[in-house]
Amino acid sequence: MDGLMMDFQLTLPTLLRRAETYFGEQEVVTRLPDKSFHRYTYSDMARRAKQLAVALGELGLERGDRVATLSWNHYQHLEAYFGIPCGGFVLHTLNLRLHPDDIGYIASHAGDRALIVDASLAPLVEQFRGRTQIEHVFVVEDSYEELLASSNSDDWREPELDENEAAAMCYTSGTTGMPKGVVYSHRSTILHTLGVAAANPLGVGISERDVILPVVPMFHANAWGYPYIAAMIGAKQVFPGPYLDPESLLDDFVQEGVTWTAGVPTIWLGILQLLDAHPGKWDLSHMKGMLVGGSAAPRAMIAGFQERHDLVVCHGWGMTETSPVASMAALPGELANADDDTKFDYIAMQGFPLALVELRARDESGHEIPHDGETMGELEVRGPWVASAYYESPDEAGRWTDDGWFKTGDIVSFDPHGHIQIKDRSKDVIKSGGEWISSVELENALMAHPAVAEAAVIAIPDEKWQERPLAAVVLKDGAAATAEELREFLAPQFAKWWLPDRFEFVGEIPKTAVGKFRKTALREQFAQQPAVTTT
Ligand code: ADP
Repeated sequence: MDGLMMDFQLTLPTLLRRAETYFGEQEVVTRLPDKSFHRYTYSDMARRAKQLAVALGELGLERGDRVATLSWNHYQHLEAYFGIPCGGFVLHTLNLRLHPDDIGYIASHAGDRALIVDASLAPLVEQFRGRTQIEHVFVVEDSYEELLASSNSDDWREPELDENEAAAMCYTSGTTGMPKGVVYSHRSTILHTLGVAAANPLGVGISERDVILPVVPMFHANAWGYPYIAAMIGAKQVFPGPYLDPESLLDDFVQEGVTWTAGVPTIWLGILQLLDAHPGKWDLSHMKGMLVGGSAAPRAMIAGFQERHDLVVCHGWGMTETSPVASMAALPGELANADDDTKFDYIAMQGFPLALVELRARDESGHEIPHDGETMGELEVRGPWVASAYYESPDEAGRWTDDGWFKTGDIVSFDPHGHIQIKDRSKDVIKSGGEWISSVELENALMAHPAVAEAAVIAIPDEKWQERPLAAVVLKDGAAATAEELREFLAPQFAKWWLPDRFEFVGEIPKTAVGKFRKTALREQFAQQPAVTTT
């Protein structure tokens, strides 16, 4: 017997209609390049998004054509997030921090036909446009405005979209190889929006009363869904434009009453240092906290925000391939009254999957690993917002198992409650004498040392053990620590053979385009080099 429910397609025009109808007066605020603030409402956004949809059609673009953006987080980017897919086109967010050659490769591989670009980034376009199929370029605050002015939002007719049609695409940032295209459908986007909004991480869910500032770039994995989530729940959105330094962000948090934000740990490490250095300078009493992910959030950072600034850090895990949010930290009910140390141990893990997402992990012989908190295996994921293939990359089919799970390349353990702990990427885990050492755990422990600002641990080749850990450490301004002290600091927490053999003190850790440690660069730098500082 079939159910007797409507065959209602899960598509983005529904979200746009909702934002416009119920939250039309809610504000969208953007920090402009000249540092002043631009303000308008969801009504204005919806009108302009429809103008964009109409105008792109009038250019002769066809259903399914890719329209790229090369932009910071701002209201025009939000218009593109809605207008492009609601016109039946595919939003392709290009990562402005990549090398022009890589952007060119990605735009050409995706077959982008049009591009919306920030004025400050327009010169970059000239460096790669020649190798792409881009026919139209619209510059924000310039020809983009002319494009909108050429059309009328009343002419917008909702294309009868099938929920499985593509809404957006994003290329993996290439931390571990050539960028690969992930294509989100309208359905996956709507379900991801619902799934993230439904999560009530650590009891700090978000609603219409919240003010959300996504620090995570809109060119990286949908800004973790926040532009859509905020529009769906009717929350005010604040966009920081190009100003992502800790001081500007803290100013935005205070001035706009931000309650919830999201980004990678490197951003929050910088913000925590500034808050600690200037107690009382920024009044964040209205703020609830932040979603942190993209790489492992150090436990000491999570505890620091909570204990010293009363801010909740919710640790999430995900990938471009999982839209991206797939799991969030949680505290099992029986630990509600546990001491803070036990609680932080828990919420420093990457939690359990959002509803509708499923996780498992298998060891090298293909057996599912037990939930014992120790055994490590490769994490596999499936669910309605997990990619089933990369765009036109048949060589990558091996990333999916025969029974339809995506192999993440992340090495994890599951604790007895089923919470995942990301131990490493399979390419970063240190294989010493046939055993695995988690670089992430060593890094997190090092970043709990009061003198350490950042630490990245990499494998270096070793004749006897195959690989051994090396720690690259950035000290806080004015702080001092020797290799010997750091080794002693780690010793009580780890088996002796886990302790790094070498500590290198560096000015900064090289980062990828989305702010993660670029370990390939560190390996190149140190693998061949004789040690400068050994213990
Ligand atoms: P790239 O693969 O190019 O870095 P993604 O942004 O898709 O691009 O990265 C996804 C990867 O980031 C995951 O496979 C995982 O290794 C890492 N990651 C994401 N969130 C976390 C987290 N909370 N803790 C540890 N690693 C994380």
